[in-house]
Amino acid sequence: MSTFQAPKGTYDLIPPDSATYLAVREAIAAPLRNSGYGYIETPGFENVELFARGVGESTDIVTKEMYAFETKGGDKLALRPEGTASVLRAALEANLHKTGNLPVKLWYSGSYYRYERPQKGRYRHFSQVGAEAIGAEDPALDAELIILADQAYRSLGLRNFRILLNSLGDKECRPVYRAALQDFLRGLDIDEDTRRRAEINPLRVLDDKRESVQKQLTGAPLLRDYLCDACKTYHEEVRELITAAGVAFEDDPKLVRGLDYYTRTTFEFVHDGLGSQSAVGGGGRYDGLSEMIGGPALPSVGWALGVDRTVLALEAEGVELDIPASTSVYAVPLGEEARRVLFAKITELRKVGIAADFAYGGKGLKGAMKSANRSGARYALVAGERDLAEGVVQLKDMRSGEQTAIGVNEIVAELESRLG
Ligand code: AMP
Repeated sequence: MSTFQAPKGTYDLIPPDSATYLAVREAIAAPLRNSGYGYIETPGFENVELFARGVGESTDIVTKEMYAFETKGGDKLALRPEGTASVLRAALEANLHKTGNLPVKLWYSGSYYRYERPQKGRYRHFSQVGAEAIGAEDPALDAELIILADQAYRSLGLRNFRILLNSLGDKECRPVYRAALQDFLRGLDIDEDTRRRAEINPLRVLDDKRESVQKQLTGAPLLRDYLCDACKTYHEEVRELITAAGVAFEDDPKLVRGLDYYTRTTFEFVHDGLGSQSAVGGGGRYDGLSEMIGGPALPSVGWALGVDRTVLALEAEGVELDIPASTSVYAVPLGEEARRVLFAKITELRKVGIAADFAYGGKGLKGAMKSANRSGARYALVAGERDLAEGVVQLKDMRSGEQTAIGVNEIVAELESRLG
């Protein structure tokens, strides 16, 4: 193995492509910032217990995919496989829920780790932007989050995604359904593993991707038919609010998602251009999670959108984000005196907010102009001894090729006015 190779299932973000990732993160975050969500950052690892209890002992994430390890000091930790449990843990630790200002609305952006079989759209290190609204049971909050995710995707120019929506019921009606589903599953011809799963977490069997299993599930009881009145009313209101906002969705009575903590509203954003890894984002309500990790009752709702898959979705739709060139002005000094003068000028330009770069490394004119071209800069500032003796530099418009001499002291003002 080459020492220059990233670990299996990971990849590096490198310019210029990395700019797309930043833009995607920014586009997802913008509607959240605009809607009262505050930024939160939590550690990349947590006590393993948090995820075991929070995400669920019987989930693939905890049993198979978690990077769990013991430190030299004997702490049992895990790299975070998802964001919700950590964010809730942090909110509880900081007593954010006691400030009398519920819901606590938070957004985050970061790296997550799952030991999965790598393939396109499925990595061992991936990136999510997420949002959590903690401590309120209000269908408008569920609707808000779905609407904001929709807005984020649309602002990026994505069109071929669908929103799948379901309700998983609550602690009143879900156990009744769970028992009915278990009864049904016990009568099927399924392998030992699936049988075991049916006993521990029967809803997950609905999510089984295998044709042989799906065929047998045709007549399975649906949670939809078991929802209690409170859950039904709640779900109906979520649906109405999203519809009124003009956001299209599909009811998917089989949508369960891979984490144990969801109750009531669950949703997934799927993109039709991504093959088997079609879920670009997902989330839902998790009214029981706080108690599962030892906190008070705090009904909450949230989502996480995958940055990697969102970028793949953009590619699949052929959407090119309009990312402005990172450099506006490129300085090309010819000689020592010019180096000093132009270096000072680009420092000044940067201070007034103009993106500027400099031909470092004592390049000759030809090499430096090539670099100026590559930088995407709109203007080059070229100066040699003769220019400086006259108190001017050459300002070259890189698009038209037109070149004009301007006074050294006018550089900043001239570029400010030209670049608007
Ligand atoms: P989940 O927590 O599994 O619902 O994941 C939420 C979103 O994160 C998914 O819809 C994906 O976009 C993204 N995601 C989850 N796991 C991976 C992975 N292994 N590789 C890339 N993206 C992932």
